[in-house]
Amino acid sequence: MIDLKAVRADTMGCRHTLHFDNAGAALMPTPVFDAVQHHLRLERFLGGQEAARRSQPDLEAFYHQFAGLLNAQPEEIAYLENATRAWDMAFYGLRLEPGDRIITHGSEYASNFLGFLHLAKKKQVEIDIAPSDRSGQLDVEALERLITAKTRVIAITHVPTQGGLVNPAERVGDVARRYGLIYILDACQSVGQIDVDVEKIGCHVLTGTGRKFLRGPRGTGFLYMQRDLIKTVEPPFIDLKAATWTEDFDYVWRDDARKFENWESNVAGRVGLAHAVEYARGIGMKVIEERVQKLGAALRTSLKSVPGVQVCDLGEKKCGIVTFKKEGIPSSSVAEKLREQAMNVSVSSVEYARLDLGARGTGPVVRASAHYYNSEQEVETFVAAVANLK
Ligand SMILES: *Cc1c(COP(=O)(O)O)cnc(C)c1O
Repeated sequence: MIDLKAVRADTMGCRHTLHFDNAGAALMPTPVFDAVQHHLRLERFLGGQEAARRSQPDLEAFYHQFAGLLNAQPEEIAYLENATRAWDMAFYGLRLEPGDRIITHGSEYASNFLGFLHLAKKKQVEIDIAPSDRSGQLDVEALERLITAKTRVIAITHVPTQGGLVNPAERVGDVARRYGLIYILDACQSVGQIDVDVEKIGCHVLTGTGRKFLRGPRGTGFLYMQRDLIKTVEPPFIDLKAATWTEDFDYVWRDDARKFENWESNVAGRVGLAHAVEYARGIGMKVIEERVQKLGAALRTSLKSVPGVQVCDLGEKKCGIVTFKKEGIPSSSVAEKLREQAMNVSVSSVEYARLDLGARGTGPVVRASAHYYNSEQEVETFVAAVANLK
């Protein structure tokens, strides 16, 4: 059970705001804010280099916290400035050849799909899109039928940015394992709201961001790469952290996931994100997952009962993200009118998810995303406000 009073007391933002934009950027808890501020204070008084030395225990803890969170090894974790760069470092490091095939799904994140298109134009790789089943989630059997001798990679999104769907990531992992394919999982919306275990899922690469359900600072992200793959994937860029300049005309790469990091980074952000993971693990990911799912379901059910509201979420298993439209009011106006009442949501537009929202013809949808610190009362207040919108 979550001590709602305690987690809300740690979340100053919920005194003023009804925050249902946890999929956009969640509210930071006090211990995370304090950790970032503490590091910035060190930088202010000691300079950035000395501050980093003093924060070394926290900076090391970053790798151990993520390893614990994801059931990985600390050597398999890297700190990046956001989830997109983390994903890029792995994807562009695969050195795909003309004719190589990538399998993805219509729920894929826009920037990742742009990456596929980019390599399709530049390197003539081919993109296969696995169909959805009747519930709207990725159809795993249909995905398996797309595999050919040229297929190299399965790259999908666990929880898409534009809806409550949870794709069957574990079953995809089973297919990837049987065919010896590299499996990249964008877990940007799942880590922090769902208990994610890389070993159970069987992915080789997993990427995520700090600011969403993990409640960390902005401008932070992480990469998990399975140990054996680290040896064969070469980052698209190099710097003096990723490699050592061993001879005048030679260098060697680091042998852990930190070869995907930059030498210079937001150090206070890394300290903050380490604390954010510690905070989430302190509550427990199973407990968090259960509560977020329950609140998401309550929000979905209540919204469905409001006349003129259409809930748009797909999939068999759903999460804390709830998308909807209100008849006669453009989604952007819905968000604006809610914002005037101190309620935060966001809008998913079609260009964020052409193959999904575009194909379904939904137009822009309102996205309300609940976290464990939201209350049942907030669900009621929010639904009443949506019902009252003219
Ligand atoms: C937000 C999001 C990203 C991108 O994360 P950044 O940290 O902004 O780069 C990637 N994938 C999904 C599914 C997302 O929702």
